[in-house]
Amino acid sequence: MGYPRLEIDLKKIRHNARELFTQCSKAGIHIAAVTKVFCGEAKIAQVLVEEGITMLADSRMQNIKKLSNLSVPKMLLRIPMLSELEDLVEYVDVSFQSEIDTIRKVSEIAQKQNKIHDIMLMVDLGDLREGCWEDEVQTIVEAAMALKGVRLIGIGANFGCYGGVIPERHTLEKLVGIKEEIENRWGLELEFISGGNSNSLHLLWENQIPKGINQLRLGEPIVLGKEDVYNVPIDGLYQDAFRLFGQVVEIKEKPSVPIGKRGIDAFGNVPVFTDRGLRKRAIVAMGRQDILLDGIQPIEKEMIILGASSDHLLVDIADAKITKKIGDILEFTMSYGALLAAMTSAYVHKVFIE
Ligand SMILES: *Cc1c(COP(=O)(O)O)cnc(C)c1O
Repeated sequence: MGYPRLEIDLKKIRHNARELFTQCSKAGIHIAAVTKVFCGEAKIAQVLVEEGITMLADSRMQNIKKLSNLSVPKMLLRIPMLSELEDLVEYVDVSFQSEIDTIRKVSEIAQKQNKIHDIMLMVDLGDLREGCWEDEVQTIVEAAMALKGVRLIGIGANFGCYGGVIPERHTLEKLVGIKEEIENRWGLELEFISGGNSNSLHLLWENQIPKGINQLRLGEPIVLGKEDVYNVPIDGLYQDAFRLFGQVVEIKEKPSVPIGKRGIDAFGNVPVFTDRGLRKRAIVAMGRQDILLDGIQPIEKEMIILGASSDHLLVDIADAKITKKIGDILEFTMSYGALLAAMTSAYVHKVFIE
């Protein structure tokens, strides 16, 4: 069995998807399931589709290509690069847009391929990542309407990714208002209002989602059973659908402060140490090439992560309840960022549990 090892429990993912699907459906909200944290792994996406998910969404073209065999529409979440528009028109059913120059090029390419590409206009409602300003919306819509290769099917907004802005009822009401203005002014009918990522779920639980919002883009709740606003486990969902394991290769007692003249560590930082005397430590054979150091924690609370270089993870095991030996397997919890890193690392063995 190879390590580091990421166990992926498809039954737990299935359960999470089903629960969220039921909750959202009751409120008239359809889920665009976000596949980027698991790198568009088709085996996982397949399970989501089986549970009723009707749209898959990712920020990367390589991931969307992996989903080609699944029959549901795919949405590109990141504003596309000019260098990927050929692929966009070929592989993506709906894309988020905020730049009229890009929309024009998409239309040109779509027309050449005898296609009409569906777009959603992203509006920035304060988080200051992607999206056009409210006062640009009508100009962009007017320009897009003149193009034959694209069709505007909705609008959307994103929160909590750069500015940490939490969507509120009035923020989403603004989005509904913008949609109505577009429809009234241009005689259009927009199918979707995409009301954000998992940070909008709390509005659903509090019954504060304005009427009209009919799509949420969910990633973290499906895979980790969590969202960022309350940052607590979501009731009824599994938090351990993905489990990370590493193998111990060395156990020694060592001082907690290095010996000798000191400079920078492997990553250019000047490390700081607290003298806690001689401590028993384990080296686990995984490192920053596999995980996000700040995003993992040993399942056994008595153990403390001391640090990591590219491929060595140092863990203080002095207070561990069960004595550790060479070859032991330690388990770690992962944040969203740590899971993303583990999925992305070619060195982490992914094992599916069906
Ligand atoms: C990543 C991403 C999401 C998914 O967010 P979660 O918090 O994982 O649910 C949704 N929308 C956009 C635009 C994203 O980039």
